[in-house]
Amino acid sequence: MPSAAMPQRTSHMVYLSQKIHEFTCSNEFADALNAAEAENNKLSDVEQCNLRFIRRLFDNENAMTSEWVKQFAEQRGKNSSSWKKARAESDFSLFQKDLEKTIQLQRERAELLGYEDHIYDALHDKFEIGSKTADVQRLFATLAPATSDLLAEIKDIYPEPIAPPPGPYSEQGQINITDAILASIGFNTERGTLGTTVHPFCSRIDGDDTRLAICYVEDNALIYIGLLMHEAGHGIYNQGLPEKLLNQPAGDAISLGIHESQSRLFENYVGRSKAYCTWLLPFMQKQFPQYKDVDVDTFTKMRNSVHECRIRTASDEISYNLHIILRFEMELALISGELNVADLPAAWNKRFEELFGYAVRNDAEGCLQDVHWSMGAFGYFPTYTMGNCYAAQFFHYAKRNLPKLDEDMAKGDCSSLVKWLNKNIHQHGSRYMPNELCIKVTGEHLNPTYLLNSLRVRYLN
Ligand SMILES: [Zn+2]
Repeated sequence: MPSAAMPQRTSHMVYLSQKIHEFTCSNEFADALNAAEAENNKLSDVEQCNLRFIRRLFDNENAMTSEWVKQFAEQRGKNSSSWKKARAESDFSLFQKDLEKTIQLQRERAELLGYEDHIYDALHDKFEIGSKTADVQRLFATLAPATSDLLAEIKDIYPEPIAPPPGPYSEQGQINITDAILASIGFNTERGTLGTTVHPFCSRIDGDDTRLAICYVEDNALIYIGLLMHEAGHGIYNQGLPEKLLNQPAGDAISLGIHESQSRLFENYVGRSKAYCTWLLPFMQKQFPQYKDVDVDTFTKMRNSVHECRIRTASDEISYNLHIILRFEMELALISGELNVADLPAAWNKRFEELFGYAVRNDAEGCLQDVHWSMGAFGYFPTYTMGNCYAAQFFHYAKRNLPKLDEDMAKGDCSSLVKWLNKNIHQHGSRYMPNELCIKVTGEHLNPTYLLNSLRVRYLN
């Protein structure tokens, strides 16, 4: 979209948000919902699940005022321009006032929605249903020190990152390996397509129409492979959702954390495994002469190596969780009023250095780097690391149930894994809460030990 169109786009968003609010808060909507709930004991499990989600939508929308809905849509429009400018010029002051207003609106929203324990609960629940601030704090209290220790241990053993051969990597070469990778991990290209974009994403347009959008990476084809497998992992979840429940809440993905677990599972647990690297390496050697003399062990180490990085999206798999922990701490302090927006850059930089051991050089690579806060998405960040933990836990049990999985992955065949995920996770749609699903699949609550064990095995060996 051209930048000059932003005010018009904002007016469309304001209009649509208010229409949705009006419709969801109408008497007809309330009457229909109440009448359906009165018959609840005659409904099937799926119908009851649908009603629970419609009730949640109704309650959430009714808690908000029409004025709040309008102000929030307007503010998001303003933020889009001011955040982009502030990031481009690495000047936090250009975004500060809009961020203050956005946080004020988010606090108002939390108060209108209500919460029992922590104001952040009301915001986080939108993205990870059933998860509380205290759950995230418990998870991160284990992960943060263990991750820092692990990074220090890796640095002792491998003082320098095991870097891939330098680029450039031709776009055509990356195009040439794409179909084989998508086929190997089981993304169905009759029910989904791949396009190009600046910021990669996966979008489910309809049951048989999943769109992946990706960008080629000239200086490192391994980054391209990671992006491709990540988005295709989201796509495989979309393609595995129950067809017969299409367009019903019960047929949707249950949460961002579970969605992210599927993308991370293919990106990290398949893509960085020695078995899959064994299959992938010959394709790399055929397309990119730089890989001609690289052996499988070195290639696997390149895929499981850490490096200094101040940018979340370009970070290695282990440091990534520290990036999330930093954002969670900052947004928790901002929302609870313990941190003033004006003090955010200094607080960010100080905590970054404590967690990572090196300094942020400017705000563009510090607190201005992510789009989420400009969209009013407070409570979103923890779902990325929850997804990493779910991925490790699910993959552990998938491997236990599929003793030939390594053999299959070494042949570029993940069909048994996709079938297992379809059966155990995808086909349930939204019928189980994330934690219920986790217990159903693995017999226990979300447990970061699986992630930490898997990282130790892959990065220290
Ligand atoms: Zn993702």
